[in-house]
Amino acid sequence: MKEPKRYLVTSALPYANGPQHFGHLAGAYIPADIYVRYLRMMGEDVLFICGSDEHGAAITIQAKKEGITPQTIIDKYHPLNKECFRKIGISFDIYHRTSEKLHHETSSDYFKTLYDKGVFIEKESEQLFDEKFQQFLADRYIKGTCPKCANEDAYGDQCEKCGSDLSPTELINPVSTLSGETPILKTTKHWYLPMDKYEGVIREWIDKAQASEKWKKHVLGQCLSWLDQGLHARSMTRDLDWGVKVPLEGADGKVLYVWLDAPIGYISATKALIPDQWETYWKDDETKLVHFIGKDNIVFHCIIFPILLMAHGEYVLPVNVPANQFMNLEGNKMSTSRNYAVWLYEYLKEFPGQEDVLRYALTANMPENKDSDFSWKDFQARNNNELVGIFGNLVNRVIVLTHKYFGGTIPDIPTEAEQAVLEQAEEVYAALQAFPHELDAAIHRYEFRNALNEVINLARVGNKFLTDTEPWKLFKVDADKTAKVLAISLELIARLAVYCEPFLPFTSARLKKMLLLDETAVQEVLAGSFRVKAGYQVGAKELLFSKIDDAQIQPQIDRLATIQQVLQAAKEDAASTPVESTSFEPLKPEITYEDFSKLDIRTGTITTAVKMKKANKLLQLTVDLGFEERTVVSGIAEHYTPEDIIGQQVLLLANLAPRKLRGVESQGMILMASDKRLHFVAPVDVIDNGQVIS
Ligand SMILES: [Zn+2]
Repeated sequence: MKEPKRYLVTSALPYANGPQHFGHLAGAYIPADIYVRYLRMMGEDVLFICGSDEHGAAITIQAKKEGITPQTIIDKYHPLNKECFRKIGISFDIYHRTSEKLHHETSSDYFKTLYDKGVFIEKESEQLFDEKFQQFLADRYIKGTCPKCANEDAYGDQCEKCGSDLSPTELINPVSTLSGETPILKTTKHWYLPMDKYEGVIREWIDKAQASEKWKKHVLGQCLSWLDQGLHARSMTRDLDWGVKVPLEGADGKVLYVWLDAPIGYISATKALIPDQWETYWKDDETKLVHFIGKDNIVFHCIIFPILLMAHGEYVLPVNVPANQFMNLEGNKMSTSRNYAVWLYEYLKEFPGQEDVLRYALTANMPENKDSDFSWKDFQARNNNELVGIFGNLVNRVIVLTHKYFGGTIPDIPTEAEQAVLEQAEEVYAALQAFPHELDAAIHRYEFRNALNEVINLARVGNKFLTDTEPWKLFKVDADKTAKVLAISLELIARLAVYCEPFLPFTSARLKKMLLLDETAVQEVLAGSFRVKAGYQVGAKELLFSKIDDAQIQPQIDRLATIQQVLQAAKEDAASTPVESTSFEPLKPEITYEDFSKLDIRTGTITTAVKMKKANKLLQLTVDLGFEERTVVSGIAEHYTPEDIIGQQVLLLANLAPRKLRGVESQGMILMASDKRLHFVAPVDVIDNGQVIS
């Protein structure tokens, strides 16, 4: 698009059912904040929109588990997250919430408009139903094995491992996440968005978007992979009691699908912020809409929401969706449910006054194009070597020397001395000239790591200038030249003070104060016309950064290591039960003979065995049952080689529903006993195959 008149920037709405961790910050909030702060600084018209997503299964499931209401949960986490974002300097223009009446009205009207336009298909179908909780199961209410990649923890709407779009009935071995029980099928009515009809226009739009601004490769790749798999109709309503009510007759007990209502949250938040002008931002072609999200939300922002916007017809579409990948923690995946994360609210408590250090470390390590890793050692090194060692050191030396030699005021400098130093400062002026352009280009390419690098490199240039000119020695022989060296250094630091604001807002404020830069001076810096001349005064020295020692980060490293050890031990326990101790698996709940008689266990003999490709634990076996042969995938490759087990008689659970593992359908399960390793279980004497165990 040509130069936009205004920007509308959104960050993913966090679920209000838990606190935010470093991964969230690095994914969708810090990059957006850098972008927005930079645009504001350049005088652009920009709105920065976010808020809590207070609907969705994650919240209701948690409420059911804890025996409290969803309202209690959102009333706890909405203010907590809002406050933490504020404290770390995320400069939202509004942090709204989807439980607000205005949002319910807005999303309800939006649905009604699409309904009246005949966008939806009304359809009755059989859906999974939890009898115990008397509830239909969709999205996160249902878990099972992904039919495409065999991930056992796939949800009813999406497999997070392979990114496939799923419907609950596609899951293998579906289990209700509410009761843990196998659901039944029951008929219900829903309104579907026929996404397949929009495949062509979505492709066209994505193509066209590339022409004005290249999307990140992984974003484009995920979109095309979805489109290539073919889009399907997706239900836009749910049988739930928590959410935005479906505004239609006969739709009692139904609410809007959370991925319909949540992105409309961006619209309702804008309405709440500027009731009279929100439409200009959402409906005028000269708005540039950019969504900042994590990679798990790509499909919702690049396909589903754009379809909803197109179907409505009055709204602008996003120009770019610069989604980030994931950030790992000390080499392991972050996990909210396992508490393997560093929580923002804890950081703010434990590292007071160090907000910018975190912003810096997360930006320097941002998972822009591939997954990255946060480690406390890296955090410490970035602070000590870069913020203290380069940035802080430069500022400190220049301010201290200006006070020491000139009482804090730059004196008159004779032209001759001025000229002599200017010749030495060529490198500095070249850097000062190139810097704003390099920075601008990086920001507009959403390359925030590079942009931050430009800032720290400018500080490096300043340090080199001091090392080359040695004002601390020069002063004894030529005070005039020394004054000029410091004046040039102060010009460079003024650039840093202004341009570090998007990345390090707290530091920028302190540094501006130290340099006594008022708004006029800031505008001069931005225009490139700022000069430090005779009479220029600096304020009192303030500490910008301080060293972080091992004692500060060791407890953090230890805490994460302990969690990893516990997780690892649990994993090993699951793999083998220890024999030496008196600890036995607790007995399972009592069952009736009838329950037992449902199991069809047969004798069989392994006739072939081969290792499965790319699966260290799995062997593919053929088991002869006498009356038929079965293919069975068994997780015993770490305990037995294929040669060892051909001819082995085994017991096979023969009426277990078949299940695909690594693309092979496993038709039954071989019974094993396990202590530290796995052992076959078989009749004491070899008997005929196909005999029933009872
Ligand atoms: Zn999958």
